[in-house]
Amino acid sequence: MDIIKAPRGVRDILPDEAWKWAYVLETSRKVAGFFGYNEVHLPLFEHTELFSRGIGDSTDVVEKEMYTFLDRAGRSLTLRPELTASMVRCYLEHGMSKKVQPVKLWSAGPMFRYERPQKGRYRQFWQLDVEALGSEAPEVDLEIIAFAIYLFNALGLSNLEVVINSVGCPVCRPGYRDALKRYVGSNFDALCNTCQNRFERNPLRILDCKNERCREIMKDAPGIVDYLCVECSEHFKRVKEGMTILGINYKEDKNLVRGLDYYTKTAFEVLSGELGAQNAVCGGGRYDNLAETIGGPHVPGVGFAAGIERIVLTMEGQGCDFGQQPGIDVFIVTADDLAKNKALKLLYDLRREQISVDMDYTGKSIGSQLKTASNKEAKLACILGGVEIEKGVVTVKDLRKGSQSEVANDSFIDYVKANLAG
Ligand code: AMP
Repeated sequence: MDIIKAPRGVRDILPDEAWKWAYVLETSRKVAGFFGYNEVHLPLFEHTELFSRGIGDSTDVVEKEMYTFLDRAGRSLTLRPELTASMVRCYLEHGMSKKVQPVKLWSAGPMFRYERPQKGRYRQFWQLDVEALGSEAPEVDLEIIAFAIYLFNALGLSNLEVVINSVGCPVCRPGYRDALKRYVGSNFDALCNTCQNRFERNPLRILDCKNERCREIMKDAPGIVDYLCVECSEHFKRVKEGMTILGINYKEDKNLVRGLDYYTKTAFEVLSGELGAQNAVCGGGRYDNLAETIGGPHVPGVGFAAGIERIVLTMEGQGCDFGQQPGIDVFIVTADDLAKNKALKLLYDLRREQISVDMDYTGKSIGSQLKTASNKEAKLACILGGVEIEKGVVTVKDLRKGSQSEVANDSFIDYVKANLAG
């Protein structure tokens, strides 16, 4: 084992990429503000049972992908594979049903799933998670979908496809499940092994299978939309009407069921052609029974999670703008120790004025300090040598124009400020 190499499926987000993440997260924070969602920070691990009951024992996430461990007191804990169950737990634990409903929350951070790593799929990955808890209204489903679209528009993403479906509720799903089993049963031998196992335990999962043969078979499977009860059907209709009112283009996909068992009624994904096999930038839906499943009262909810890595990959693929890459504006170049003392003072005077500035501490020559200044893409190099100290000036070199001037000590800060602003 090479311990100077991160474990498989996890990676460092280096500065060259981290600033892009910061842009995505800052934009998300702004959009959350416009939509009235408040930020929460949730634990990275929870009781294993929260996920096994909440997400569903027969889902891929719970069956194969969780990082579960015993702590020193022998409790079974799991690194969070997603945030919805934790959000609902947080709502219940803090008695949020007493607040104005829906309670609108968002959070961003790392999730952990033991999946086969590939482009856009990692074992530690970040999600932006947005949830509205405590309302049955279809307008809240609409708001969640609109939030995702508004965010992706704000980030400059294009060519995205919104796919939606309704996965029904405990009233209408059993009828559909039977119809699906009848259909699948007549094609049973042609299914992959995984789907043959799913047949009894969780036949809806078969709709989700990525195996080509299974997909081909499932193309003609009955759609749940034809089995929805009146309530689910009306709800779905209203969500779609809302999408039309807001001008959000969407495609209905009768086979969209999503990988987690807690969904009821609306399920949706936003897909990008940029991502290859892992093409979902975001996925979400309604989960009216999740709170009860984990032992709480009835709390309807709806939300989505978007993968930050996939957003950044899509933005890079489409040449989107990430704003300004942070860099330093000023680099101070010193000739000797005496100059260094004066430079230290200037360094902190400038930082106090909120100017980004750096200097060399390693005793490089003036020439290589100037090279560092250009490598760091500083706009100004401020040179302090014996002559400058004697004359009470700083030589300011504009690295953008190549021009140079001597600036008196007492007007130095104002000069730098004016020059950077100009
Ligand atoms: P899910 O929680 O499975 O509904 O996923 C929601 C979103 O999280 C997906 O649309 C992806 O953008 C992202 N995502 C899920 N799993 C991974 C993973 N293993 N690596 C990177 N992103 C992921």
